[in-house]
Amino acid sequence: MKPAPFAYAKARSLEHAIALLDGMSEAKILAGGQSLVPTLNMRLSAPPLLVDINGLHELGRVVRRNGQIELGALVRHASAEQNSELARLAPLLAQAIPHIAHPAIRNRGTIGGSIALADPAAELPACLLALDGEVEISGRSGTRTVAAENFFRGLFETALAAGDVLTAIRVPIARPGDRFGFAELARRHGDYALVGLAAAARAQGDGSHAIRLAYFGVGATPIRARNAETALADGNIEAAAAALARDLDPQPDVHASTATKRHLAGVLLRRVSKQLSAPA
Ligand code: FAD
Repeated sequence: MKPAPFAYAKARSLEHAIALLDGMSEAKILAGGQSLVPTLNMRLSAPPLLVDINGLHELGRVVRRNGQIELGALVRHASAEQNSELARLAPLLAQAIPHIAHPAIRNRGTIGGSIALADPAAELPACLLALDGEVEISGRSGTRTVAAENFFRGLFETALAAGDVLTAIRVPIARPGDRFGFAELARRHGDYALVGLAAAARAQGDGSHAIRLAYFGVGATPIRARNAETALADGNIEAAAAALARDLDPQPDVHASTATKRHLAGVLLRRVSKQLSAPA
């Protein structure tokens, strides 16, 4: 199928992109196009205007600053995957990115596009939540920072308002003693996950770890499994797996029933627990 007719504008700067979006609440930003273009072609979406941000090279940088690593919205999945410095500073992202789709899609798809789209079965939103990261947003009223915890609001719903551009994400740089875990189950490698888990265990000064477990594919947004986190911090993996019954209420979808998703969430917890307890 072909998309419904739309106007196209190539932004020359971030300010220009924001001006183009102003007053056009149905306009869409075009980043890698890997999710947007199929929805246009299937006529699931018919925006009157596409604002192409691919020329905004300042959004394509990876910068280290104030104990955080910042990835510009236009950093492609493939370039993040090949960035050895990023793998050292943010190992969880490096673990997760090879699970996103296939190389051709990772060549064009962007970090900002993934976070802005907020697919509930996507890897990066869960990583951002597990890492206690944040999102930088620019719009008509200036620039603001939103914690990952407050960014994902519902099914494909985020803190982005009409006219906003997601400009970057930031995550804390990994410190000695921090541990990370990632696992997902998909029907084939490269498919969206049936269920996935991104985890961070950050070293506290006293030798303990602050654990954050972020599941994906089990709800409308990535979901923290807080009861399981508490049990895992006490070193009790089976109690953590049992606690998932209180943390998660997965709805059935075309691929798996609620019972299957619950079971898979437990399987992933056991796998990721091993990664978190392995010597760094
Ligand atoms: P686009 O398609 O350009 O945009 C997506 C949406 O985000 C649009 O609504 C757009 O307006 C908005 N947007 C984009 N950038 C910004 C911005 N900077 N500010 C505000 N809004 C913005 N993803 C996964 O995570 N895991 C998978 O397993 C996976 N499998 C896939 C399999 C296939 C076959 C395909 C086609 C895609 C798959 N994807 C998967 C999606 C892929 O990762 C996309 O790259 C990603 O979802 C969107 O990134 P994009 O840059 O292509 O965004």
